[in-house]
Amino acid sequence: EQGSIFDGFEHRGVRYANRVAFSPLTRARASANGVPDHLQATYYRQRAGAGLQIAEATAVLPEGHGGIWTPGLYDQAQVDGWRLTTDAVHAAGGKIYAQLWHAGRLSHSSFHPDGLPPASPAAIAAQGQVHIAQGRVDYEVPRALRASEIDTIVLAFERAARNAMNAGFDGVEIHAAHGYLLDSFLRDAINDRTDDYGGSLENRARFLVAVLRRVVAAIGPDKVAVRLSPDTQAGGMRDSDPQATFNYVIDQMNALDIAWLDLVEGNNLVSRDIADGIDVAALVVRFKGAVILNHGYTLDMANAAIGSGAADMIAFGRPFIANPDLVERFRHGYPLAEGSRSTWYGGGAEGYSDFPTY
Ligand code: NAD
Repeated sequence: EQGSIFDGFEHRGVRYANRVAFSPLTRARASANGVPDHLQATYYRQRAGAGLQIAEATAVLPEGHGGIWTPGLYDQAQVDGWRLTTDAVHAAGGKIYAQLWHAGRLSHSSFHPDGLPPASPAAIAAQGQVHIAQGRVDYEVPRALRASEIDTIVLAFERAARNAMNAGFDGVEIHAAHGYLLDSFLRDAINDRTDDYGGSLENRARFLVAVLRRVVAAIGPDKVAVRLSPDTQAGGMRDSDPQATFNYVIDQMNALDIAWLDLVEGNNLVSRDIADGIDVAALVVRFKGAVILNHGYTLDMANAAIGSGAADMIAFGRPFIANPDLVERFRHGYPLAEGSRSTWYGGGAEGYSDFPTY
């Protein structure tokens, strides 16, 4: 019998109502100090019909923010703010993970308490722009992290994972995708280091693996997901052999018995379809836990992927913005609403928590 996205399932002792995940989406509506409030609680509660929600990218350190008004999980006010969201989601019968984020060279010195340039494997600037308090500015030339600074960031991920559990999240997703700090260390186009964190595959993955070890030791492997985007070109990501790089990363995830792989297919800046992309199916088979696939899925594509066993869950992001009851609309064949891109980032309830259910 063919499965569908509407099937409930159990993974690592937890029951999920369906196989639809709500993909993490930056919406830039926290306070300037990274504190979410009732506004976020309402937004996530409205979307609690997803089997698993993964909340928007949330910084593990002030200098880890990848834009103004993105949330954090490094101080108590942020933990208390997120508690409003997790309580609201749980009251609605949902499950929600926090996504732990360090934007690395895609951050900005104005977020850094010491005003230092953004953190990076190497002093190579990214193309593009970042939103700071004053508006949109070009990415700066970042600074190459010292090894001692890497240790501090590893501990920050661990502390943020503990904070997430104290805030009532059901687990955490480590953001190792989209050219942010952990992803940038993996890639030989950016990481030209000659110390223990550059060169060989083992060295380039050392930072991510150290984070995963600490987080797994802190909260257990059953509550940990890792987001990877092997084919992204965000932040200038390239790798001479991405299949080998991500095979190695997945082997390390398996050794730690990590529960979830959340894989973004294709180049998230452009398309899910890549001419000479990596073999996603090989990565999925290689991973021993449950797999969430993401990027540009339609209902039919999602059901096909679940039915064939290609994935355990399919994540939808943008369709959830204007359709808080997306799973019910899919179930009943109701039409989908179109949101406006003008309200994706920043602002208040408008274009965020004011979309009606069908
Ligand atoms: P975009 O250039 O419109 O926005 C990119 C970033 O700029 C957003 O992350 C947001 O933080 C910031 N931003 C844009 N307008 C803003 C505003 N008015 N106020 C505050 N911040 C603002 O690009 P896009 O098309 O939305 O996204 C490009 C790609 O990057 C997509 O594929 C998306 O999936 C990906 N993305 C990833 C993350 C993440 O991993 N955390 C966040 C956002 C976008």
